[in-house]
Amino acid sequence: MGPFQQRIILWVSVLSLLFALALPGVAAAGKPPHPGDKQVDVGRDGMVVTATAEASKVGADVLRKGGNAVDAAVAIQFALQVSEPMMSGIGGGGFMMVYEKKTDQVTIVDSRERAPAGATPDMFLDENGRIIPFAERSTHGNAIGVPGTLMGLETALQKWGTQPLAELIQPSITMAEKGVRVNGVLARAIQDHQEKLSRSEAKDVFLPGGEPLQAGDKLVQKDLAQTFRTIQTNGAHAFYQGEVGEAITATVQEYGGTMTAEDLADYRLTIDEPVRGRFQGYEIVTMPPPSSGGITVLQILNKLEQRDIGQYDVRSPEKYHLFAEASRLAYADRGAYIGDPEFVDVPQQGMLNPDYLSERATQIELERANPEVKPGNPWQFQQSSFAGEPSVQSDDRPIGETTHFTVADRWGNVVSYTTTIEQLFGTGIMAEGTGIMLNNELTDFDARPGGPNEVQPGKRPMSSMTPTLVFKDGKPVMALGSPGGATIIASVAQTILNVLVYDMDLKEAIEEPRIYTNAYPNIRWEVGIPAAVRADLEARGHRFDAAPQEIGNVNAIWIEPKTGRYYGAADSSREGTAIGIGGK
Ligand code: GLU
Repeated sequence: MGPFQQRIILWVSVLSLLFALALPGVAAAGKPPHPGDKQVDVGRDGMVVTATAEASKVGADVLRKGGNAVDAAVAIQFALQVSEPMMSGIGGGGFMMVYEKKTDQVTIVDSRERAPAGATPDMFLDENGRIIPFAERSTHGNAIGVPGTLMGLETALQKWGTQPLAELIQPSITMAEKGVRVNGVLARAIQDHQEKLSRSEAKDVFLPGGEPLQAGDKLVQKDLAQTFRTIQTNGAHAFYQGEVGEAITATVQEYGGTMTAEDLADYRLTIDEPVRGRFQGYEIVTMPPPSSGGITVLQILNKLEQRDIGQYDVRSPEKYHLFAEASRLAYADRGAYIGDPEFVDVPQQGMLNPDYLSERATQIELERANPEVKPGNPWQFQQSSFAGEPSVQSDDRPIGETTHFTVADRWGNVVSYTTTIEQLFGTGIMAEGTGIMLNNELTDFDARPGGPNEVQPGKRPMSSMTPTLVFKDGKPVMALGSPGGATIIASVAQTILNVLVYDMDLKEAIEEPRIYTNAYPNIRWEVGIPAAVRADLEARGHRFDAAPQEIGNVNAIWIEPKTGRYYGAADSSREGTAIGIGGK
C-alpha cells in the first residue's frame, strides 16, 4: 500500500470515528454534523460519490443489488432532483461520461439543453440594443432551454443499463412523496432565492405557508412524485410527447418564452467522443464542445507542465501566479473560439496543438501578471481554410452552481456526470402541476449576437461542465468533475494537479484551497491561501477578491491501479457522501 492509500484509510478511520462519536469538533471542521455521514470511503466492488447523502445511498443500493454504474447513475440523477432540487433535474441538461470496461471505450451522452425554434440571436437585448440585466433575463421564459436530461437517462440505460427505468426511479418517488430532509445547503439556497421562488408554484413547495424551509425540515414534493410515476409508466415519451411536456411548454409560454410541443418532440441529444490530452504521463479524457471545459483544462495543464509547475510548492506564490497566468490565456481562447460544434467551427485541433501552446506559454512571465491577455490564433495550427475572427463575449453572469457525481461498479465501469439547471433553482419557475424546476441554461449563450456562442434556434449554449476521467497505462485511475459555472475548469484542473503533481490523496487534493481567474487582474480564492502569498501575488499585479469564497464541489473517485480498489471523496463545500461497496 502506497502513502496515498494509507492516507485515505487514515482519513476514513479518523472521520468514521469522529462521526461515530458525534464530536462537536466535526461540525467545527466544516463537516456535516449528522452521524453516519462520511465524505471519504473505500470499496472493493464499487463506489458512489454525490453531493447528498440520500442520492449516494440510492446509488449504493442499486450497486449492491447488482446494478451497474450506469443503472446507479440514472437512479442518482432522480434522487438528486429530489434531495438537491436547486441544482439539477429533468428540467435541465448535462454530460454523462461513461467508461465501459468491456469495450474499453469512453462515451459521452450529451443531453445539453437546446434553444427552441423561436429563439433569436437578439432575444437577450432590450429595444435599445442593450443587454438585459442578468437577473431579468435569467428568470424569463426565454432563458429556458429544451431539457435533455430525461432523454439522456433513457438513452444511457438503453446503451449500457441492466435495470428498467421504472425500478430505478422508484426510490425517488418514495422520497418525493414522503419527504426528504432539507440539508444546510438546500436551506441556504431557499433562504437566498425566496423572491425567485415566489413567482411560481415553487413557492408552495419550498416556502410552504410563506416561510422558507429550514435545515432539518422535510421537503415534500407531491407533484414531482406524480410526474415521476407518469414517467415510470410511460417513460421519456410522457415528457417529450405527452402530458408532462404540455405542462412545460404552457408554463414556458406563460413566462414569455417560445418553447412549443414541437421543440420538445424535436429534442435531439448527441453521443460524443471525449477530447484527450496528456499530462505528467497520464491521459486526461475530458469534455469536448459544446463544453469549453475539456479544451480549457487541457490548455491550462499543458502550460503548467511546460513551466514545470511541480518545482514550486503547492502554496507558493509562484504556483498560484503560474496557475493564474495559464488560466487567463486559456480563458481568453475559450471566449473567442468555443461554441456548439453543430453550428460553428471550433479550432479544437489548433487549440491543443503543442506548438501553439508553447507559443502561448511564452507570454507567461514569472515576475508579473500579464495585463493584456488576448486570444491567440489557433487557426494557424490546424489544417483548415477557415480563419474565424476571435470574439469577446459579454460577461455579466454570476457563477452558476449545479452538481457533479461519480460512480464505479464491480465490473470496472465508471460514470462521471455533471448535470445542471444552470443557476440555483434555474429560472425559479416550476412547470405547472409537475414539480419540475425549469432551467435557465440559455443564459450560457453570449447575450450579444455575433460570436461563436450567440443564440440560434436548435443550438446548445457553451458550457463549462467538465466531467473527466484520467487514465494511466490505458486504465482509468480517476473520475472527477465539479459544478461552479466557469470556475468548474479551475476546480478540475487544480484537483488533477494536486493528485498528479503534488501527490496528494484525493480528499486532500479536493480540500486544498483553490483559486479562479478568467481575466486580469481579479482572483477569486478559497480560505487557506496564506496572506503573505496573496500580498506577493498582488505585488506581481494580481488583485484578490476582498473575501474568500468557496469554489466548486468536486466529487471524485481514485482507482488504485494494482488492485482496482476504489477510493471516493466528496467535497466539504456541500454535505455529500462517499459510499464504498464490498468492504475495504
Ligand atoms: N450552466 C453551467 C454550464 O453549463 C453549469 C452550471 C454550474 O455548474 O454552475 O457551464
